[in-house]
Amino acid sequence: MSRVLVVEDESAIAELISINLRHAGYDVTIAGTADQAQAAVDGVLPDLVVLDWMLPGQSGLVLAKRWRTQARTRDLPIIMLTARAEEGDMISGLDAGADDYLTKPFSTNELLARIRAVLRRKAPEALDTMVDVGGLKLDPATRRVSKDERDVRIGPTEFRLLHFFMTHPERVHSRAQLLDRVWGDHVFIEERTVDVHVKRLREALDPVGCSRMIETVRGAGYRLTQQAQVLSS
Ligand code: CA
Repeated sequence: MSRVLVVEDESAIAELISINLRHAGYDVTIAGTADQAQAAVDGVLPDLVVLDWMLPGQSGLVLAKRWRTQARTRDLPIIMLTARAEEGDMISGLDAGADDYLTKPFSTNELLARIRAVLRRKAPEALDTMVDVGGLKLDPATRRVSKDERDVRIGPTEFRLLHFFMTHPERVHSRAQLLDRVWGDHVFIEERTVDVHVKRLREALDPVGCSRMIETVRGAGYRLTQQAQVLSS
């Protein structure tokens, strides 16, 4: 279930949005100010933020800009809401890092369509597409991992971790980022947990000769790379 944070100070609008999103199957949190929104994001990273431009105190625009500068929130999908329909405003909103932009009043169906589109664009790992990195194949539809027709026996958490690594190869991911993206909630889990599952993932990949694809990057985190595979073969 995708988590959506709705940042809107007008409680009637916030309620209306959240009722409709919940009805559509989203897990919704409401924040009435930029500070509340920041606190919510610090707690649990949502899958998407519906962010009203006009908020008391700090504006949604400033908040979006700040999120874009921070590693943890850089890729956070944001749909900006505004009552102002000027083209200049739309450009500033998109410049601030919003993924999409809706002018009030909008229909719930329009918002839902935009949310689905942004989530699809931002989360390729959520799609049921087969991934292949250096001959290691992962099929989300059948939950099968294989190399040269040999199946890899793998637990559910290691499967999600490998899926994330394979859809974001060659990039270094910190333990905190992995907790956010793979576990979805970094608050209740220690970063050491990541190390445990990376170890299990390597053990699972060892029989097919792929354990060295998961590299430890000292002081930074982990990455999946094809280079090690090439060097070791
Ligand atoms: Ca407002």
